Amino acid sequence: TSFEELGVCSELCDALKAMGYKTPTKIQAESLPYTLKARDMIGLAETGSGKTAAFAIPVIQQLLDSPQPFFACVMSPTRELCVQIAEQFEAIGSTIGLRTAVLVGGLDMVSQAIALSKNPHVVIGTPGRMADHLANTKGFHLKKLRFLVFDEADRLLSMDFEKQINLILTQIPKNRNTYLFSATMTSKVQKLQRASLNDPVKIEV
Ligand code: AMP
Repeated sequence: TSFEELGVCSELCDALKAMGYKTPTKIQAESLPYTLKARDMIGLAETGSGKTAAFAIPVIQQLLDSPQPFFACVMSPTRELCVQIAEQFEAIGSTIGLRTAVLVGGLDMVSQAIALSKNPHVVIGTPGRMADHLANTKGFHLKKLRFLVFDEADRLLSMDFEKQINLILTQIPKNRNTYLFSATMTSKVQKLQRASLNDPVKIEV
């Protein structure tokens, strides 16, 4: 199958081609028919499977249908992963002017607050720094969020981010789509799944 056949729009197919993504990976081929139709998803997948594009493509395609700032929020456990995710969003969204902001610890709050003041479409960060900005950065809120992504949920929950994740969940709309990716299905991940996903399709690769 091709990205076209899975329902990916021509703007994004062009961008994927330019990035050298000729054919979808297994997780992309199995999830896109559902996620492009607004289903929630649980992906049991590791880094290297193409999971980042598996969540970035449906987020960006649905952003094209109803563009707005602060459309999607991605939580990932480390600074490096957050930066890599932002790079893939920007590459796939390069032809449409997609803007991201990366919110991670150890870097300057003020420059991140300036990035937030530019109304990015997608914010990517660690739960701790994300919660910090929600509490302290004037004008930043996620009240109109449409997509929430948990990347490496098992690691997120093993790093004591549980409190901040629960706080963030109280500050975003219930009416949204949620994707959860994890290498393993732990009891904490199952609890997060029950609290935050609605009738998800489950993909294991
Ligand atoms: P990930 O599992 O998201 O960390 O992706 C692993 C690597 O595969 C990244 O370097 C991506 O750029 C690359 N990748 C993702 N999807 C595809 C695809 N359909 N074709 C070729 N490379 C891909």
